[in-house]
Amino acid sequence: MMNPKGTQPEDLVWECQACHVNLVEGPVTLMYMGNRITVDLPQCPRCGFVLVSEAVALGKMAEVEQALEDK
Ligand SMILES: [Zn+2]
Repeated sequence: MMNPKGTQPEDLVWECQACHVNLVEGPVTLMYMGNRITVDLPQCPRCGFVLVSEAVALGKMAEVEQALEDK
């Protein structure tokens, strides 16, 4: 069965609107569905701003849900 992967949002380059520096991917701890999860999200190395765009969040949440269902 075909299961093609679309364009990954991670392919985009993000920039902190405040610092004008490129965001770097790093582990961020979130609470989701009662579970403490760690996902890699773009964040600002200068001010610590974490970008959780809807597309990125949905993609990460889908991955997490799959991981949870695999238990
Ligand atoms: Zn910043």
